[in-house]
This record gives sequence, structure tokens and C-alpha cells, in this order.
Amino acid sequence: MLFGDLVKALAAIEATTQRTVMVKLLVSLFKKARPEEIDKIIYFILGDLRPPWEGVELGVAEKLCLRAVSKATGVSIAELESLYKKSGDVGEVARRVLSLSRRPGLLAFGQQRPLEVSEVYDTLLKVAQASGEGAQDLKVSLLSSLFARASPEEGKYIARFVVGKLRLGVADMTLIDALSEAFGVDKEALERAYHIYPDLGRLARHVAEGRRLEEVKITPGVPVLPMLAQRLSSASEILSKLGGVAICEYKYDGERAQIHIREGSVKIFSRRLEDITHAYPDVAKAVREAVSVREAILEGEIVAVDPDTGDMLPFQELMHRKRKHEVAAAAEMYPAVLHLFDVLYIDGEDLTGEPLIYRRVRLSEIVKETDKVFIAKWRLFDGADEVDNFFHEAVSLGMEGLVCKSPTSVYEMGARGWNWIKYKRDYRSEMIDTVDLVVVGAFYGRGKRAGLYGAFLAAAYDPSTDMFYTVCKVGSGFTDADLKKMYEMLQPYKTPHRHPRVVSKMEADVWFVPQVVIEVIGAEITLSPLHTCCLGAVKPGVGLAIRFPRFTGRYRLDKSPEQATTAAEMLELYKRQKKVAQLE
Ligand code: AMP
Repeated sequence: MLFGDLVKALAAIEATTQRTVMVKLLVSLFKKARPEEIDKIIYFILGDLRPPWEGVELGVAEKLCLRAVSKATGVSIAELESLYKKSGDVGEVARRVLSLSRRPGLLAFGQQRPLEVSEVYDTLLKVAQASGEGAQDLKVSLLSSLFARASPEEGKYIARFVVGKLRLGVADMTLIDALSEAFGVDKEALERAYHIYPDLGRLARHVAEGRRLEEVKITPGVPVLPMLAQRLSSASEILSKLGGVAICEYKYDGERAQIHIREGSVKIFSRRLEDITHAYPDVAKAVREAVSVREAILEGEIVAVDPDTGDMLPFQELMHRKRKHEVAAAAEMYPAVLHLFDVLYIDGEDLTGEPLIYRRVRLSEIVKETDKVFIAKWRLFDGADEVDNFFHEAVSLGMEGLVCKSPTSVYEMGARGWNWIKYKRDYRSEMIDTVDLVVVGAFYGRGKRAGLYGAFLAAAYDPSTDMFYTVCKVGSGFTDADLKKMYEMLQPYKTPHRHPRVVSKMEADVWFVPQVVIEVIGAEITLSPLHTCCLGAVKPGVGLAIRFPRFTGRYRLDKSPEQATTAAEMLELYKRQKKVAQLE
């Protein structure tokens, strides 16, 4: 196909305001295309040379594009830049200067061989592949070879494409409609194939060559469209939607990862199907060590953790990992772990049609948990209270809530259906004040903290019973010096078992006589079945806990343990917290 014919179609598509017309224009374009060029046409329309996970980037900014136009036309860069300043559209600049009659050293347009779609595409691919020394010059000369032969209108679309501003607004679903009509294939079958293999260029070629869509199979190395979740905010509604029984999983607050293992190599894809392996070399390596099969497709959440305590950190911390350089250093400073929640494929076996409960079993068979790779925590429940308790536990430990799933559901690629339901809060609260807590136990430290305590079990005091009730395990906020000091300070109070005045559901590594008081702040006070403070006061079976607790640096040696924050004060603080809308 001549590139000019594609450009005419693009111009018509751009001009229309109706989706049905857009589909018609696409259908007639596809019918005219040869099978070996239809993929290129699709990629051009989508504004990318390859599907997102291949990460092919042109690497052409406006300046470089103008240099290429200048080289092709002889118009000075200064002149082009001033035109660009006025219109703000490199496409328009290219169109204007290519329509000028002067083309020094070049034949006038029309006196040379017109551009073919394949030629344009192949040249652009070369532009993308140019790298290393001299890459910029090579890109300029490749592009200028296109501009030199382009009509003004063609030049406009090439320029817009290369700078990433070809915004035709043709959605994948529109292309699927048009392809199904143009090649007489069932739309649902095409959609299904697209969920399994979301590369429309490749699928278009497949149908244009008259091949059957059943041949399209889940393939390690090619990300599938992820299954998505609906949302509800009560456990009983969720259970009734799911038929009375649910697999409830912690909803980790991190980045979704679709992990493909193939011949020992690991690739990690984002929810938007981009290859993000480069950002997580540590996670990829940990997966290789934890998963014992040759080929697999797994799903999980990558979560940032505190390097000192191993505590989970909020999602924002992962932003530090989104960099091109010094990735290894970032991995060390901002470590991440992986919580796996699904498996879609193992050694040639497509598991997406199997029930979730079976996939969960298969997942636990192939994963040997390490200190970096875990199986997402889950339970099977049929009662709303149990779901609620598990939800409170998850939130108090820093999770966003739960994802509740139908145990019998298949993996529905690309669908936001009712087989997965998020259970999140509409509001979260903000802890408004610090509290003074008594250290009643400790947990041994790892890594840098080996030989010392890495975290402490902290409690509030209840004068009515003269007992201490736990509210959090706190490991953050301590400097190296603090940890040493805490260790030394606590030695005289060590007891071989839980002190009789301490009420705890957690098992500490070391127990203390309640004596040392420290100041703690957290993100919020939440309900939790893991802690005993005010147990049952708000809800049966759950107490109060501090979420994301942190030592403020203040030792309250001036306070006796009986002068620590009381359980009643904790309850008051819980009730007085500022409510903050929880965004999606
Ligand atoms: P949202 O982003 O709020 O629509 O919630 C869905 C996201 O939660 C998924 O895309 C995952 O990134 C994340 N997630 C965390 N834990 C789980 C889990 N156990 N199952 C499914 N998704 C999870």
C-alpha cells in the first residue's frame, strides 16, 4: 500500500466525529491492505512501532525531528523553530515547509517514487534501533530520507508519529470491531484472542492471513490482559455476590506484576503490559530462586519494604525504583518483595480455565517461599465476621484491605467482573497525636540489626485492670544508636516468659517486665484482631492497633509505665481521628 493511501485514511479518521464512520473507514483501509503490511498499518494507527511490552521507543524529540526536516528541505533550523513556536505542532511545520516549492538538491514531490507503507515503517524501526555513538545523526538522516520523499500531508503524519503526537484516538476496541468486520471473524473470538495476546498488529496479520483464532495461545513472554476487580464496602454484600464462600486475600499496596518465566529467564510486566523487569532485577532474581518450573506465568504484587525491619511500606516508596540508572543501588536502598496470588500457566499447561482454588494449590506447589518471595496471605471464609476480622488484620498490618475472590472462578483476562471484589475502606483516618507506650517484648533483628532487637512489642496501660495491652509492633524510626540503647536499656527487664501483667496475642522473641516507655506515632489507629488493647470495645474479637507505627526518637524515661497512654485514651484517639477520603 502506498503511504499516501494510509495518510488519506488517517486524515479522514481524524476528521470524523462518529465512531461508526471511523469503523467504516478502518474496514475499507484494512480490506485494501496486504496481509504482510496490515500489522504495520495497525501499529502506525496506534502511534507505536511495537506492542508496549517490547519497549521499542523512537527516541525522537521535536528538535531532532526539525533537524531532519531541515536536512530534507534546506529550510534553516532557526526558521523551522520559529514556525514551531507559532504552531506548537511539528506536523504542521513539516507540512508547511514541504509544500514550499523550494527543495534544494531534491526532486520536487511527484517526480520520485512515492513512499510505501512498509518502507516508512521499516525506516522508522531503524530509527528506533539506532543506538550508541552517532545514533542521533543516523536518526536524522534516516528521517530526512523519508521527509525528502514525502508529500506535505505525509510529512505531517510522519512528524507527528515520530514525536509521539499522532493522537488519532482510535481505541483497541474500535480496531477489533473493524478487523472483525473486514475479515469476517467473530468479534468475541477476536476479543478473546486479544486478551490472551494483546498485540493487535500481530492478530490483524493472523486474521488477514486467514488463520484460525483458536491457534492464539497463552505464551510465556507475552503478557495477557490482567483480570480486574470490582469494589464493595461490606463483607456480607461481598459474600453474597460470591455465592457465600470467598477466598479472601490480603490486598497488598504495591505494584501489580505479571511474571513470565521462560528457560530460566524472568520478565516482569506491569498492569499496563509494559516490561518493568529492569526496575526490579532483585525481584526477578528472587523469582528464579523461588520457583521450580521451567516455564510459568505468575501474578503478584511487588511491595516496598523497610530495609531495616522488613515492614511493608506504602506504594509510593516504589517510585524510587523507577529509574534508568543506578538501578542496583536503588534496589539495595529501597528493597522490594513479591507476594504471589495467582498462576496462569505452568510448563505448557494453560491454567486460566481452572478454578481459582486449584490454581492456588498449584501455586503453592511450585513456589518455595524465601525472604523475598511469598505467597499472598489468604483464607477461605463463609462468614461476614470472619471476613471482617481478616480485613481489620490486613489493614492494621499496612494492607489496603482484602481482595475477595470466588473459589470456583476461572481467570477472566481483561475483565472487571464480580469474581474478584476489592474490600477497601471509603475513609482512612489520621492519627492526630503521639502516644507513650510501654515496651513489653522484642523481636530479634536481622541483617544490620542482627544481634540487637529489630522491633518491639508496645502496649498501653489500663488502670482499671492494672494490665498492659498491646497496640503495635514497632521497628521504624530507630537509629542504629537507638537500637543499641534500647538493647542495653532493656536487658535488666528481661523475663523468661510473658510478664503476668501483659496481655498479648502476639508471641515476642523476648519478654520484658513493663518498664521502658517510648513515644510512638503512626499513620492511624485501626481495628485489629492481632492486638489486645480495647479488645471488643468497638467490635467483638478485635482490638485497637497503630498502623505504620514509628518511634519518634523520644524516650519517656520521666514516665513510669503506669503513666503511659491508657487504653481509654487510645479509644478516645481512635474515635477522634480525622477522617480522610480514600481515593481509588
Ligand atoms: P485497584 O488498583 O484498587 O483497582 O485494586 C486492584 C489491584 O490490587 C490489582 O491490580 C493488584 O495490583 C492489587 N492487589 C494487591 N493484592 C492483590 C491480590 N491479593 N489479588 C489481586 N490483586 C491484588
